[in-house]
Amino acid sequence: MFDMERRPRVVVSKCLGFESCRYNGQIISSDEVKEMRDHIDFITVCPESEIGLGVPRDPVRLVRDGQDKKLMQPNTGRDVTSEMKDYCADFLKENSDVDGFILKSKSPSCGLKETKIYAAIDGAAPVAKGAGFFGDAVLKYHPKKAIEYEGRLRNYQIRDHFLTKIYTLSSFRDVKNLEELQKFHEHNRLLLKSYQEEMYEKLCDLSEEGGSLKDYEEILYELFNRPPECESKIKIMSELFIELKSDVEEDEIEFFEVSLDEYREGNTSLNVPLSILYTWVLRAKDPGLKDQSFFNPYPRGLVRLEDVRTCVVRDYWNY
Ligand code: SF4
Repeated sequence: MFDMERRPRVVVSKCLGFESCRYNGQIISSDEVKEMRDHIDFITVCPESEIGLGVPRDPVRLVRDGQDKKLMQPNTGRDVTSEMKDYCADFLKENSDVDGFILKSKSPSCGLKETKIYAAIDGAAPVAKGAGFFGDAVLKYHPKKAIEYEGRLRNYQIRDHFLTKIYTLSSFRDVKNLEELQKFHEHNRLLLKSYQEEMYEKLCDLSEEGGSLKDYEEILYELFNRPPECESKIKIMSELFIELKSDVEEDEIEFFEVSLDEYREGNTSLNVPLSILYTWVLRAKDPGLKDQSFFNPYPRGLVRLEDVRTCVVRDYWNY
């Protein structure tokens, strides 16, 4: 069963429902962040107010500076680039023991990819797009952690991958020796296999042969670099089905096969075939299967009823 005590640590932009700290004194509502608050330990941050710009404040913007960029406040002419760079480096060094980040999109501080960059402090039209200063620093200091902006978490596949990654990385943070590594690996073996089989095999070798935790961690990060393919989840479920079907009735088998086809076609949730399989696992009383994180990678309270269409997200991009 899922360990309800587990709470990943995630850094989040403070304006996403925690404090009215935007330049105009407003707060932003994010249903996704709100849902996670009962289950995740959030570390809130507002880099612009932390460097003393105040709330409300004159807005800042990214201004191109040769190959680089500056953080400028057009109404006052202030250049706060160096204060912001120092703050970001200090904050991220102090908060290195985290599993992920949820940042506000398009912000000159928190943005990850789509923030407007201007040619001059008073230039009217943006000339490019890129990451804000805090977003840039997150990508530099913690590139392998789970990193998303709030808007992308509305997509089921991206949210499912983000949650799976932070809960698995949080669990791996507790692994301190070979015995704990082997337990971690056993508990997550089907989940890891459903991500990337080749990486999974390497993790199996390291776990069996007593490889270093560092090597295991590196491959684990690589494995979580992108969401799993729909087909690989189907493959795992089909293998389990073959293992378990001798103990179930013909009409149950038929119902499962229909559900699997519907999931493949994107017409039903992964939870339908997965729940059928899980009832068979419980019936088989196999503790090695019952405890697999593949069935419950994160708390059921974070699964949404409307999470229906589940096939591969085709436009997934990493930062
Ligand atoms: S986007 Fe970042 S800097 Fe801007 S208000 Fe939100 S937390 Fe503060």
